Amino acid sequence: MSDDDRQEDCIFCRIVAGEVPSEKVYEDETVYAFKDANPKAAVHVLIVPRHHYASVAELAKADPDTLAHIVQVAQQIADQDFHGAYRLIFNTGEDAGQSVFHVHAHVLTGQVLPE
Ligand code: AMP
Repeated sequence: MSDDDRQEDCIFCRIVAGEVPSEKVYEDETVYAFKDANPKAAVHVLIVPRHHYASVAELAKADPDTLAHIVQVAQQIADQDFHGAYRLIFNTGEDAGQSVFHVHAHVLTGQVLPE
C-alpha cells in the first residue's frame, strides 16, 4: 500500500502495514483478513481492504470489485471452517456499532449461530 492510501491514526491501516500485530487468516493484493480480538463466534474473522475506506458505502461506490471480492473471501473462510455457512456483517455508522472507521466485514462462522 502506498503512503497516500493510509491514514496514520487508523488501527486497521497499521495492521495491514504490519505495524500492529494480528492473527492473519488470509491475504492477497487487495484484502487482509485476521481474527477479531474479541470474538463473537467460534470463528470471527475481519476482512479489510488494504486501501482505507471509512465505510462499506464508500467502498461500494469507489471499488465494487473489492467489495465482491470480500464476499468471496468470506465464503472461502466458511467453506474451510463450517461447510459454507456464515454471517457477514458490516456495521456502518457509530449508531449501528461501528467503532473502527476502516471498512471491515465481520465473518462469523465455525458454529451454528443464534438467530
Ligand atoms: P466494529 O465495532 O464493527 O467497528 O468492529 C470493530 C472490531 O474490531 C471489533 O469486533 C473489535 O473487537 C475488533 N478489533 C479492534 N481492534 C482490533 C485489533 N487490534 N485486532 C483485532 N481485532 C480488533
